[in-house]
Amino acid sequence: MALRRGIYKTPAQLRAMVEPGLITAAALEAVCALAAPGVTTEELDAAASRVIADRGARSNFQLVRGYRHTVCASVNEQVVHGIPGPRVLEPGDIVSIDAGAEYKGWNGDSAITIVLPDTSRPEVVAEREALSRVTERSLWAGIASLATARQLNEVGAAIQASIEASGHDYGILREYVGHGIGRKMHESPSVFNYRVSDPGPEVRPGLVLAIEPMVVIGSDATFVEDDGWTVSTIDGTAGSHWEHSVAVHDGGVWVLTAPDGGVAGLAPFGVRPVPIG
Ligand code: MG
Ligand code: MG
Repeated sequence: MALRRGIYKTPAQLRAMVEPGLITAAALEAVCALAAPGVTTEELDAAASRVIADRGARSNFQLVRGYRHTVCASVNEQVVHGIPGPRVLEPGDIVSIDAGAEYKGWNGDSAITIVLPDTSRPEVVAEREALSRVTERSLWAGIASLATARQLNEVGAAIQASIEASGHDYGILREYVGHGIGRKMHESPSVFNYRVSDPGPEVRPGLVLAIEPMVVIGSDATFVEDDGWTVSTIDGTAGSHWEHSVAVHDGGVWVLTAPDGGVAGLAPFGVRPVPIG
């Protein structure tokens, strides 16, 4: 893996990443509050844009060449990189929202999945909620593993083991992975969501990662839709995407894009996040 040198940030740089993380979290909270049947994905995008602008930040997704929206909104068989537009959300839809904010030159990146209620199709809703729950739990398992990991590939192993332990035969996307984050939204190293033999870089203070499992009910085979962005499953089964930006520092780990730093999400794993001093 190239560019291992220079991936570790100083304590001052880690502190600078707290605010963009919190702004990213606030943008996703606004989206979550608005998401309902009858709302369009571009309305969700506008809600995130407002929060990010109000807090004096910029959407870092708009800094990606060719992309002019604030969030990605991926519905049902779309797993990631869905483009907001006039699509109206329907009851029972599973919607993954990915957002990021750049503040004073530093970045946050996070994603959530929302399942909309549908009383006429309780079994579909239950299946999708299970997928989202397992995906989110695998994210927290990966974050928890960072607290004791020596090498980065322990994170992917923990994510995969968590998904396997669910008893579901879900697919994990292989072609899309997490990443380092800092001055740029996408930095080295790659963060795999599955077991890899390359140990990857050493886990030590200064490492900041966007960990983001992408999990589907069926096969992990995907294709890019004609819009050139949207990644959808070939078999048409639903996908879920959860992501947090996480810092390893002298005192432990801190989840930059969780308002509580990850206290609630990490509690089931016996890990207590420590604020960046
Ligand atoms: Mg993201
Ligand atoms: Mg990311």
